[in-house]
Order: sequence, then C-alpha cells, then structure tokens
Amino acid sequence: MTPESDETEGGRSLAVLPPPAQREAPRAAPTAERSLVIVANRLPTQRVGRGAEARWELSPGGLVSALEPALSRRGGVWIGWSGASGEAPGPFRAGRIENIPVPVSRREVAEFYEGFANRTLWPLLHDAIRQPVFERRWWETYRKVNRRFAEAAATSAARGADVWIHDYQLLLAPAMLRALRPDVRIGFFLHIPFPPVELFSRLPWAEQVVEGVLGADVAGFQTAGDAANFRRMARDVGAGTTTGEVVRVEEREVVAREFPISIDVSRQAALASAPAARMGAERLRESLGRERQILLGVDRLDYTKGIEQRLCAYRSLLRSGRARIDRHVLVQIAVPSRENVREYREARRRIEGLVGEINGQHGEVGRVAVHYLRRSLKPDRLAAFYRAADVMLVTPLRDGMNLIAKEYVASREHEDGALALSRFAGAARELSGAVMCNPHDVEGLAESIGQALEMSADEAAARMRRMRAAVAEHDVHRWAGGFLKELGRDRRRSSEA
Ligand code: UDP
Repeated sequence: MTPESDETEGGRSLAVLPPPAQREAPRAAPTAERSLVIVANRLPTQRVGRGAEARWELSPGGLVSALEPALSRRGGVWIGWSGASGEAPGPFRAGRIENIPVPVSRREVAEFYEGFANRTLWPLLHDAIRQPVFERRWWETYRKVNRRFAEAAATSAARGADVWIHDYQLLLAPAMLRALRPDVRIGFFLHIPFPPVELFSRLPWAEQVVEGVLGADVAGFQTAGDAANFRRMARDVGAGTTTGEVVRVEEREVVAREFPISIDVSRQAALASAPAARMGAERLRESLGRERQILLGVDRLDYTKGIEQRLCAYRSLLRSGRARIDRHVLVQIAVPSRENVREYREARRRIEGLVGEINGQHGEVGRVAVHYLRRSLKPDRLAAFYRAADVMLVTPLRDGMNLIAKEYVASREHEDGALALSRFAGAARELSGAVMCNPHDVEGLAESIGQALEMSADEAAARMRRMRAAVAEHDVHRWAGGFLKELGRDRRRSSEA
C-alpha cells in the first residue's frame, strides 16, 4: 500500500517548494542503471518524538522495503507529502532514503485529498459502491496539486532518470511531468482497481484523467482485468489505439498491464515466527478461550472492506447455531481511517452498531461474540493475531489487491488455517487455495465462512500450501524489480524517439 496516514496538522501557511538539489546527469553508459525518483502522495517516513527529540523515521511496510535498496543503489529520491498541512520541511534523509517533501495547504488537504481523491476517485474506482461526489473546485485543486508534484519530480530527476509515480492521488502527474521533462522515463502504478468503462465514464473529467496516465511509458495495474478496463477506456475516449498490452498514443507506445503487488514475504515470515509473536499468539488463545476457533478480520475502517457484510454473515451463523459462542469468537481489528470524510464516519457508526447488537444478543457475562479493536497495531503485534487465527476473513466488496490476505498466508508456518477471501479482491487472482466468497450476498458469505470453519485439517493444509507457494514466488521485491525492468526496457517509447 502507498504509505498513507490520515492524520493531518493544520494551521500553518503554505510555503513555496524548497528547491531540491539539482542532481547531476549520470555519467554512465546508456546500459547502466539510471537514477530513480519515486513520487507518491505520502513520504515513506513519519515524524516521531517531540521538541529536540523529534526525528523522521521510515514507516515500515512492503513498498518501502521493496524500493529502499533500489533507491540507495541508484542514488534516488522519494517525493511526497509529509502528512502535515502548510509549510513543508526541507529535504531530509531517513534510513537510506532521501526525502523531498511537497507542501499541501490545509484547503488543499480538504479539496485534493479528502475531496477529489477520497470522495470522487476512491468510490468511483471501487465500482461506485458509494456515490462519488463531483465538485468542480475539487478537480481544479487536484490539478494544481498534481502539477506541484510533477514540478518537484521535474526539478529532482537527473537526465534520463526513471521516475515512478504512484496511485490515484497523482493520476495527472505522468502527463504533466512528460511535458516538463521529455527525457525521463515515466512509470505509473495504480494501487487500487480500475473500473469498467461504463462506471469510469461517469467522471466528468474521464478523458483528462486517462490522458494524464498515458503520459507514462509504463502504466501498471493490480490485475489483468484492471489493465484491460483502462485500455478500453483509452480507446473509448479516443486517447489512443491498442494492440495487446500496448496503447499507442501518437508516436509513443505505453505499456498498460498488470503488475500484482505483494508483500515482503521473508520479513513477514520472520515477524510471525519471532518469540514475541509466538508468545503473543499463546496469550491471545489463552484469553479468548482455547476451546474456541478464532476468526479474524483486519482492515482499515473503510466501506470498501465489507466489514458490515462480514458481521451480518457472522450474525447469521450465530442465529442458525452453526457458530456458537462457546466454540467460536470473532476478532475484528479496525484501523481508524479518513475520519474527516462523511462516508467513513457513517460506516463506522453502522459497524459499531452491529458489533453492539451482536454482542447484546449473543454474548454472555465474561464472553463476547465479537471483540472489536478500533486501533492500528504494529506489524509485530499484528503477526501474533495472524498466528493465533484459525480462519482469516478478507471480504472486501472491492479491493485493488489486499495485502492482509497475503500477510496471513505468509505467517502460517505450520501450513494450517483457512482464508475466506472475496472474489472482488485482486488477491483472489493468485490465492486460489482460499474459500472464495461473494460479500454482496450475505447468506452466501455466511455459507463460505461456515465452510472455512468446518474444513478438515488435511484440506486446509493442502490449500494453505498452494497459497504459500504462490505468495513466496511473487513477493514485493520481484514486483518492484519486474516493474523497473519493464520501465528500463529500450522501446524508444519517448517522444524524442
Ligand atoms: N496494518 C498495520 N496495522 C494494523 C492493520 C493493518 O500495520 O493494525 C497494515 C497491514 O500489515 C498491511 C496494510 O496495513 O500491510 C493494509 O494493506 P491492505 O492492502 O490490506 O489494505 P489498504 O489499507 O492498503 O487498503
């Protein structure tokens, strides 16, 4: 996932972007590695400590660990927003990564980030499962902020560098950067789904957005279906013609295909087998009751994740007696997210209402049906939950990939445990050993969860082995390497060719 924090500090005034150090042109032969610039909404760092103790720390996560080696080897930078509105700090180093902060004002946070990115694009690209909001003002601010990121990349990139732009907050930046710096190669990766033409066409600025992405040389998507939707959209708005995975835009060729993202498998396996996770899992089993099967959900508190539908399905299993409070327990970890956005507050209210209703109806003194933890856990603590869970519930209505599903699989060193996985998550393309489910059909979802709960140990092991092999083969290092290799390929795609 693109590093993202929902916390913003407000109040300070917007400063001009500090001029980043202009990098020297590489002296290497054309075959040598070029320098690398990553552009993402968020920097890969967070501010920790206060006053004289304050410092920047790298945020742990798959994307950061996948890109850090390439950035340090190739002498690159990461451009992004710090998460605090107003004046941006000057460039700084954290770990092995050179950070270049881009300022975003308080008003821009409201219009670019909470507005256009999270109330227009987010629901629209997730199959419009909530009504996207179209506001002219937000669009104008989205363009303005995208231009600022593109300008920062143009200033920072060495001649002929590879620039890799990430996600739905920056859909216009590839074409803006190309106009400023036709010498660089531009990659773009969309971490969330790309919907069918019939849905995307609702966006009043659909054509400009598609043209924005087509400024890249390589446009990556989570699944083949997302990439096909995008190519069809490109044809539909007349932005280019397509042959296989290539979109031809005037004299240029843009490769638009899938690069399914993954996790740092060995890091996750190490976290899950560490003494802290073993002891943590033991304590969880002890306190939840050793005779009970543990069902686990871990999600940002987002309406796309199907938390409500999952709770309704579990309620149905309890009502029918297929799940029993003395034999089963559901733990739902819900990470607070985008709480300034109305649809997220509404989703939270409904989820918390359901948890209360289920516990009120099915709980006993000293024993609840659903444990609801509204907080973010550190990766090592989360690993203890993955280790303790007998059944993992990943039931999004729509999700680009879903890394939780892959993290659970990578954490199951004893090859046991079952995964109930929505067919609308990108991860379903790779994790064929999961019990596939349709969260839009609550009774069907209950049936799938029941199947996962009642699965024989032999069948669970066979399925888990298949999933572990799939995850181990395609980890995040391979993902990053594969994308950068495609970007570095000499196809003479640039406008100079
Ligand atoms: N995560 C975490 N602490 C938590 C819950 C989740 O660090 O309490 C991490 C989790 O390990 C995973 C990421 O958040 O790497 C969630 O990624 P995913 O693709 O599943 O969903 P997203 O939030 O990007 O939509």
